[in-house]
Amino acid sequence: MIETGDFEIDNRLVTAQETEEDAALEGGLRPTTLAEYIGQDKVKENLAIYIEAAKRREGALDHVLLYGPPGLGKTTLSAIIAREMGVNLRITTGPAIERPGDLAAILTNLSPGDVLFIDEIHRLSRAVEEILYPALEDHAIDIIVGKGPSARSLRVDLPEFTLVGATTRVGQLSAPLRDRFGIVQRLELYAPEQLADIIRRSAQILDIPCTFDGAMELAKRSRGTPRIANRFLKRVRDFADVLGNGEITEAIARTALDRLEVDQLGLDSNDRRMLNMIIKGYGGGPVGLDTLAAALGEEAVTLEDVCEPFLMQLGFLSRTPRGRCATALAYRHMGYPVPANLPESTDPAQMSLLDDPA
Ligand code: ADP
Repeated sequence: MIETGDFEIDNRLVTAQETEEDAALEGGLRPTTLAEYIGQDKVKENLAIYIEAAKRREGALDHVLLYGPPGLGKTTLSAIIAREMGVNLRITTGPAIERPGDLAAILTNLSPGDVLFIDEIHRLSRAVEEILYPALEDHAIDIIVGKGPSARSLRVDLPEFTLVGATTRVGQLSAPLRDRFGIVQRLELYAPEQLADIIRRSAQILDIPCTFDGAMELAKRSRGTPRIANRFLKRVRDFADVLGNGEITEAIARTALDRLEVDQLGLDSNDRRMLNMIIKGYGGGPVGLDTLAAALGEEAVTLEDVCEPFLMQLGFLSRTPRGRCATALAYRHMGYPVPANLPESTDPAQMSLLDDPA
């Protein structure tokens, strides 16, 4: 039996979900143009073309669906799209639109060309989705007036607008909704070099001295996520002020993140507990996600959205039809002997992760 302790994923330092502290820190950190937006080159190149084409036609941009793990810049991109198109941005979320009337009110208040950003769009209710379909296709909504036998359907025309939907779980989107997006783009976890650029940019804006190596050290531990990188920058600044001369150096970054229990690959105690549970509790897997979540006292959705993308990118976790399995790399990182029947990774990039002397 393994002691799991508390698995407080929402409060943890490496959570990719936005915290109140992030929101407060946000001022000025969000890039406002495509040129300022670091990384995601394929997405940026495609969007630049679509935006340019829409501007030449003097029409609205086609509807855009952005998907990928939290904290990668979906909200930021939606604001950039609105700005590059020179239109207003309205921001809301799937769960906030409770009734069809809520959406009708938002839609009828849009100006021509506006961008409507709906975060967590997979959480829209079916009834609300039904209103959205004609709005997306025909720029009109059907409103039911009256009740019972005397009820009539009234068609209200809307201005042309662009819906930008964001989701961490594209698989949960209903097929009819997904099909109505002309532009579908997936955001990837960022490479450490890109995160280091993001950190240096943020450090400059916040006036925090940070060396090249210091930024790289923070970047390597930010699990591919700009939101976490920016959060580390702010936390580690405190260590730099107290333990050093205010500058974030490689040594300060290392000391601070070690103290915060974020290891050299960005895993925190909860990631390690999850791997530990698979390896020691379930013989390395396969173990079903729900079983694992119950054993750790955590929601399956959180494990899937927050822990898994990164552990899979590291090559520590594999998903099989029968459940999750720990890989040879995970055994090594956790300091366990690798079982003889487990295949070794053949990916040199993944192998080199464990060579880091840090
Ligand atoms: P999401 O909507 O995907 O959860 P956000 O758009 O809220 O993510 O971005 C999270 C944080 O990361 C913001 O503080 C933003 O400034 C920063 N960020 C995201 N992408 C980039 C990028 N490409 N370049 C610079 N900063 C970024």
